[in-house]
Amino acid sequence: MPAAPRLSRRTSERTRVVRSGDACFGDGGFALIGGPCSVESRAQLTAVASAVERGGGVMLRGGAWKARTSPYDFQGLGDRAVELLVEQGRRSGLPVIVEALVERHVARLVGNVAMIQIGARNMQNVPLLQSAARSGLPILLKRGPSATLDELLLAAEYVLLEGSDRVVLCERGIRSFDSATRNVLDLGGALRLKELTDLPVIIDPSHASGRRSLVEPLTLAAAAAGLDGAIVEVHPTPEEALSDAAQAIDCATFLHMARAVSATRSALLGSPRFAIA
Ligand code: PEP
Ligand code: MN
Repeated sequence: MPAAPRLSRRTSERTRVVRSGDACFGDGGFALIGGPCSVESRAQLTAVASAVERGGGVMLRGGAWKARTSPYDFQGLGDRAVELLVEQGRRSGLPVIVEALVERHVARLVGNVAMIQIGARNMQNVPLLQSAARSGLPILLKRGPSATLDELLLAAEYVLLEGSDRVVLCERGIRSFDSATRNVLDLGGALRLKELTDLPVIIDPSHASGRRSLVEPLTLAAAAAGLDGAIVEVHPTPEEALSDAAQAIDCATFLHMARAVSATRSALLGSPRFAIA
């Protein structure tokens, strides 16, 4: 029996489609999620949501409660950030995704957002996974920076055992000996996940690289390789961002990247590479 039996790829070569509001993952398209690392103000979020919507992004992200490495860094606007996200979600028509750090956040998000993010630091937080699963909302599950693919799949299995099969997996960079980039995007691992499971698999090129110059090329690599989408950090004035400034792209870059993704996928339609998608 495979370690994660509910998730093992069935004989069918099709990827399970996960829907969240109007957003769709695993339907053969490349789903782009965009938004700031942290919600900072209404003006900031309005600018970003407009760009994501204009670029054909499928979902708006935004950090409300931030698990920062240092307790002295900006910790997020909390409940106020959720209010601003709900407002911008309505205005732009984009479904919203927010990370929950504890069970109380899950309760706060139900009825307000379309998808719950479980962050890399919490990938193996079993009570949080179970409570997010029981919320009925689809889940974006990020791979921990030191987690194996099997550990990621077993974490997702906890969600499925609660009766929810709406899980999207996210490769967001793993630790290595080389600090030239923040983490190392494990593109091979992400592709291997698609051989092992029928869940949609996306990447986070922002946290994987830590550098805005690498966000678009890594996203295009994922699109060309047949992965199911990307979640990227966008800020109207990236150098002024209160968190993860070095990896945020501006709105114009998001729009350019979105067009480049469409062109890449169109050029590859019919390619055998997409047989695993
Ligand atoms: C985030 O998406 O803002 C985040 C904190 O990501 P990760 O959990 O991958 O570090
Ligand atoms: Mn971030």
